[in-house]
Amino acid sequence: MRCARCGSGHLFKGYFKMAPDCPRCGLHFEREQGYWAGALAINIVATGGLFALVFIAILIATIPKVPVLPVLLVVVPIAVLGPIVYYPFSKTVWVAVDRAFLQRLDPNEKG
Ligand SMILES: [Zn+2]
Repeated sequence: MRCARCGSGHLFKGYFKMAPDCPRCGLHFEREQGYWAGALAINIVATGGLFALVFIAILIATIPKVPVLPVLLVVVPIAVLGPIVYYPFSKTVWVAVDRAFLQRLDPNEKG
């Protein structure tokens, strides 16, 4: 949850509202309309991956007598709360990934 260019924190006003620009270096985060679709994809992959890992691990550990209710009590909160908890992280990770690609395409890119 830090700026991908200067490392500054304090990018969020509350848990869900990200500042439009970095307070230290002025990096504008949302470069174009639809920019945050990348953050959405990162969030889905991260929380979906965690869900799948936990679900498969429990299945492997308990087969053939899978305790359905306890499994649901573990994996449903991951599926429901995971994307909410990971939301701000997914946005800052996406900005870092985007900047890494930009700098690879154009090493002089300052963002
Ligand atoms: Zn910055």
